[in-house]
Amino acid sequence: MRILVTGGAGFLGSHLVDRLLKDGNEVICLDNFFTGRKRNIRHLLGSPDFELMRHDIIDPFKVEVDQIYNLACPASPVHYQFNPIKTVKTSVMGAINCLGLAKRVRARVFQASTSEVYGDPDVHPQPESYRGNVNPIGIRACYDEGKRVAETLFFDYHRENGVDIRVVRIFNTYGPRMLPDDGRVVSNFIVQALRGEDITVYGNGEQTRSFCYVDDLIEGFVLLMNQDDITGPVNIGNPGEFTILELAEKVIKKVDSKSKVIHKPLPADDPLQRKPDITLAREKLGWEPTVDLDEGLDRTIAYFKSEFDL
Ligand code: NAD
Ligand code: UDP
Repeated sequence: MRILVTGGAGFLGSHLVDRLLKDGNEVICLDNFFTGRKRNIRHLLGSPDFELMRHDIIDPFKVEVDQIYNLACPASPVHYQFNPIKTVKTSVMGAINCLGLAKRVRARVFQASTSEVYGDPDVHPQPESYRGNVNPIGIRACYDEGKRVAETLFFDYHRENGVDIRVVRIFNTYGPRMLPDDGRVVSNFIVQALRGEDITVYGNGEQTRSFCYVDDLIEGFVLLMNQDDITGPVNIGNPGEFTILELAEKVIKKVDSKSKVIHKPLPADDPLQRKPDITLAREKLGWEPTVDLDEGLDRTIAYFKSEFDL
């Protein structure tokens, strides 16, 4: 197949592109390099099955493809809050452009949605049927509401125009190719520990997250995209739940670091708990995470050490 991956030079996108090429597909990677890096896809430049398009997804584009994976959107709170209006445009106009293209060329189209559609959840763990608790006027809303509207558009194009959609709700994912200045918690803590700097825990550190290793997530993407039973939304994430303080302690121990934990203010609307209910993914996709946090952290720490000479 010929497959378009938007955001293909980013953390998740570049792993997905690798996987799709390995499976024997042709891949077009569309990216504006806001948070993506050429380095993530450098090894593919020159491959006859790979094409790179520098393009901003808020502007329409035309390509002949069989499948579209829409990942273009900054994912770290630091990056998506840098220009919140642009983040909304990327999610909403990006979804419209992908869906319009999918309709025109009859491609199947996949949306990378997020556990952020559940906001600061008062149901725990979160099943797909939970409708969420999002503050529509807070600092996270540009991302959360943008992604919620994108889901709405996907389901309206599906109902109104018969567009063949798949929607995944991704829970916190980590691994090699995260940026050292990405701002998300796993990369922040690893880089701080390797540099011997203070580990910045926001708030009291009792808030929880469930961390999925990137290879497991990509397997879930491909399984969801290539089955005919369900559109989603489907949660993909690792249900192992940890407090942020537990994560900090794990990283310090693994790196054998002299770093000390310091506390900084908890950002507004930071969800207090998050854990996916993955019953649907288990039953419909036969998907299950295979890499636990210890193993995944070891691999990610090894990447940061070698890639950035830390
Ligand atoms: P990332 O920031 O590494 O990747 C996003 C990519 O999109 C980058 O390459 C960036 O340059 C590109 N991009 C951003 N705006 C664009 C625009 N206007 N036009 C074209 N390209 C643009 O983040 P990631 O972690 O790889 O996330 C990928 C997708 O998965 C995002 O849609 C994100 O919302 C979603 N997601 C990720 C996680 C996670 O834990 N990693 C969790 C939930 C959802
Ligand atoms: N966090 C932290 N220190 C950091 C970065 C993040 O304590 O240096 C916390 C953050 O407040 C949140 C959790 O870690 O409670 C996960 O943050 P991240 O930005 O990785 O993802 P998200 O909040 O979008 O799940």
